[in-house]
Amino acid sequence: GELPEHLRETIQRRNKVLGPGYTLIYKEPVEFVSGHGAHLIDRDGNDYLDAYNNVPCVGHAHPHVAEAVARQMAMVNTNTRYVQEALVDYAERLLSTFPEELSKLSIACSGSEANDLAVRVARFHTGGEGIIVTRWAYHGITREVASFSPHLGAGSPLGPNVRLIDPPDPRLAVPGTTLAEHMRQQVRGAIADLERHGYRLAALITDCAYTSDGIFTDPVDYMQGVVEEVHAAGGVYIADEVQSGFARLGESMWGFSRHGVLPDIVTMGKPMGNGMPISGVVFRPEVCEEFGRNVRYFNTFGGSSIPVAAGAAVLDVLEKENVQQRVLESGNALRAGLREITKDSPYVAEVRGAGLYVGVEIVKDRETLEPDRLLTEDVINDMRDRRILINGTGKSANTLKIRPPLAFDSADVTRFLETFAEVAKNRL
Ligand code: PMP
Repeated sequence: GELPEHLRETIQRRNKVLGPGYTLIYKEPVEFVSGHGAHLIDRDGNDYLDAYNNVPCVGHAHPHVAEAVARQMAMVNTNTRYVQEALVDYAERLLSTFPEELSKLSIACSGSEANDLAVRVARFHTGGEGIIVTRWAYHGITREVASFSPHLGAGSPLGPNVRLIDPPDPRLAVPGTTLAEHMRQQVRGAIADLERHGYRLAALITDCAYTSDGIFTDPVDYMQGVVEEVHAAGGVYIADEVQSGFARLGESMWGFSRHGVLPDIVTMGKPMGNGMPISGVVFRPEVCEEFGRNVRYFNTFGGSSIPVAAGAAVLDVLEKENVQQRVLESGNALRAGLREITKDSPYVAEVRGAGLYVGVEIVKDRETLEPDRLLTEDVINDMRDRRILINGTGKSANTLKIRPPLAFDSADVTRFLETFAEVAKNRL
């Protein structure tokens, strides 16, 4: 359809003044002026179902978070160089959601900063430089983190100290090998290749839901062997929970728990403040002690009062509204419905995911699994035209990424599935 006049004008002005790299999603871009739960409202009062934004995890404009931030903003904002009881309370509370070995918290402002610090500490602790990530991983935007984010593409070169392994897609395992064997073999090979080039291992870092690789949440039986290989080589395992954390996957607060492993470092961000910029790094104390003794790390906004107030309010809501249970129920219903709708489609290879992180892989042919990026884009834009927001992910951007605010309830699931069925009838 035709873009509304004011939107066309704003986009023209935007293109004139904004720096490089800004892109809009959807053939017909959209602007929102308010939101609640998993709903977004445009200027004309139309209600969109948000099935894509994971930052407003407890819901858009959640009143409890808004009130906590406004109250703190109207009182004072101090940084970590002053005693802040609220920061200590928050750290104790957040750490209580982790196994007791993970007992130290640093706070920063973005997932990128969290991963930057995590890897810096890992290098310091291990004396190594080598980094292993999955083949289409994304971990952030600093120069260091971009150097191990292959998802950024050819224009953003990987470091010579970086090695790539397959994501845990069971279909990539060589016939006759289990996924666990395949993953272990991949890590062993990467470590050997690093050593051959003079790099000792610092860290393996994985997104616990492998979201930019195409969303691979199951099975969960391979990580133990992988972490053993990493430790045997003197490296640490960093779990990137920026996407998978804060109950997103339904079964647990943290994605790594599903895999039955204990990371040395965990990073988190996006949903942590429901929109306030706050991110975290959780360490086993022995991993970060030397770094702390030798390096000064001060982050002006990281751990200051306002973002911490937002973080604490998010934890309140996660507890009070029993969010994890809702994620489990909505996620299961959503995946079951999607499987039912697409079971006879020649173009849907797989519906996968856990909790409210769901992927639908779209292919030209179910046998060859040849990706169909254009069809994926058509589905995404058809959904948007019917006022439901999703996007795509994976190596060939051919997996629908369905990742709503955790406020997504059973009425939202029903609306999503009814609309998806209409789109699927035409396209899939
Ligand atoms: N890690 C993962 C897994 C991410 O998905 C992202 C952001 N998409 C980041 C790190 C970086 O976070 P931020 O954009 O807050 O810097």
